[in-house]
Amino acid sequence: MFLYINWDGFSRHWYEKARTVGAGTPNLDRMIALGASLENHYCGIPAITNPMQQTLVSGAWPEKTGNCYAYFDKNTKKVVMTGRLNLCESIAEAALRRGLSCASVHGWYFENRGCVPGDASNPYIQNSLPNFETRVELLLSYLEGEAVPSGDVLVTIQKRPNFLSIYADDIDTVCHNGERLPYPQLQRAKTLDQWYENLVYTVQRMDKALGKLLELPDTTFALAADHGGMPYATAAFGVSREEARVPRGAELMEAIRSAGLDAYLLKSMHDTVPADAQALVMLMGTQAQLYYLQAPDAEIRKRVLKSIRSLAFIDRCLDEQQQQAYGSWKGFCDVYAVSRSPYFLGGVEVNEFLGGSHAGMEESIMHVFCAFYGKGIEQGLRVTHRTTLPQFAPTVCRLLSIDGPADAKGLILNEILEEK
Ligand SMILES: [Zn+2]
Repeated sequence: MFLYINWDGFSRHWYEKARTVGAGTPNLDRMIALGASLENHYCGIPAITNPMQQTLVSGAWPEKTGNCYAYFDKNTKKVVMTGRLNLCESIAEAALRRGLSCASVHGWYFENRGCVPGDASNPYIQNSLPNFETRVELLLSYLEGEAVPSGDVLVTIQKRPNFLSIYADDIDTVCHNGERLPYPQLQRAKTLDQWYENLVYTVQRMDKALGKLLELPDTTFALAADHGGMPYATAAFGVSREEARVPRGAELMEAIRSAGLDAYLLKSMHDTVPADAQALVMLMGTQAQLYYLQAPDAEIRKRVLKSIRSLAFIDRCLDEQQQQAYGSWKGFCDVYAVSRSPYFLGGVEVNEFLGGSHAGMEESIMHVFCAFYGKGIEQGLRVTHRTTLPQFAPTVCRLLSIDGPADAKGLILNEILEEK
């Protein structure tokens, strides 16, 4: 059996913090010490859940999956949300195509994309459970032959699936620091220290539950993540709380205007854009997407980039070509700008609590955890060269001894295989 564990929002940085504090992370450490760890593994843009999860399961960047979370369609003049769109084959679909069986516990990326609610042979199993701990219990009871919820019915295991996945968003939920938190012991963070404490607590608690999974016999394990996170609107990295709590959207718009471009700031998803607008800006917390509506000349484009890049709160500002180097979809935007932590741009409400985001390009967002362990995996291998999300799916398929996924672009990580 192959078990794909997905920890949404698990930055490599959260692992480095959690492993050295208190009880540490013995099970993650074991995966690394006795398995293969991708030490420099990176996601693409936008570093948002749906686009990056679909990249993980299909081995292709948003440029191929078509999922970029949200974009402004210049033809219909409307904002389009891409939802769970994935134009590429998933690992589960590739496995089914080759006659293998699958199951997914809360792994929504396989729902009706290989695993089907109510289908006992390849079930999508879900029970609105709040955290990894409870989902691990659900997975184990499924493997032990108990009836588990799938769609509107209960299903019982017919035979051990060849490919099984489990998903949990505990870390991502703690990062966003909203009203819903995965464990009753947690309180919403008001300071950077509290936010890191919450992240460490959550990683260590998940590590404990992970230990139960690693006991499964005759199994190959992979633990991957879609993106990390960054704090904003809080005192951090030499910036005061007062300064960090000011939305920077107005300054961004002014910088674009001073470059000679009259851009319109979209107020909401359903806002109507003035017919004569030269350009449009969409803000989402820590990211901004700029669209040219009347093709400006090269000189203006250059000035816009220069003007945005000169802003102290901007971390990165990429033109279309530069975005493509991170796998972005061609219609994503003409200019992509992200703030550096702890600044934000706008489109979100700031309250007494710290803000957490991952729509950015900070190292703590882009550098994600990924490790393989168990049957067929090289022991104690640390892959230190740069690897990227699209390499995950074709490597998993190789370990399942099948080809695919059909649209995968990433290179198989042959070095982690025990049998080369
Ligand atoms: Zn996510």
